[in-house]
Amino acid sequence: MREALRWTGEVSRVVASRKDDKWFVSIRVHTDDANTMVQMSLRDDKPAVGVDVGINTLATCSDGTKYENPRPLKRYLRKLARANRTLSRKTFLSNNWRKAKSRLASVHDRISCIREDSHHKASTAIVRKASRMGIETLNVSGLLKNRKLAKALSDSALSRFLTMLKYKAERRGIPLTEAAMFFASSQTCSSCGSKKSELTLRERIYHCGECGFTCDRDVNAAINLCPV
Ligand SMILES: [Zn+2]
Repeated sequence: MREALRWTGEVSRVVASRKDDKWFVSIRVHTDDANTMVQMSLRDDKPAVGVDVGINTLATCSDGTKYENPRPLKRYLRKLARANRTLSRKTFLSNNWRKAKSRLASVHDRISCIREDSHHKASTAIVRKASRMGIETLNVSGLLKNRKLAKALSDSALSRFLTMLKYKAERRGIPLTEAAMFFASSQTCSSCGSKKSELTLRERIYHCGECGFTCDRDVNAAINLCPV
């Protein structure tokens, strides 16, 4: 795996480290402040962006751009379920139990690495194109009632993704609006403002019965989250 340096400037320090069987490299780069100034001055030309987050599509922007969750994630979620089943069949504290436990930990680790990488890439791409941003507020107490493993994992990851968007926006001086907790971004028509009493998760296209507006469901939600 390799990747080009994302910053230009003088490299002043490179540290290689190892955690379990994985190697990490951290690189310190002295960037030119002028770059930041250029970004700030270009900000006025950029649009306001609303961001809807989800489990299948990580982020949908009000301009219609989508950032998918990476494909390897699904494969690793299956492996995670398998590693969990294997562990549950072993005798507690036996050698095989220890092996299964370490296998499970490494699958967890792999998943969080893939997820974090994709979240960093998507959140950076989004803050780069926005002058102002709007995001939703996840209902955390509602999430705690959920006992399904994969779903709960995704939800905690989504709130981390929103946190990432927040601090990256703040770092760039981009104003960010958080919608009220129970704001019905998915049910509300982004064209006329009327609200559907029911919208199932299977309805991928939003169609407004009042004004006839038809739009991708997630894009409609993102437009509703977009700051005015
Ligand atoms: Zn409408």
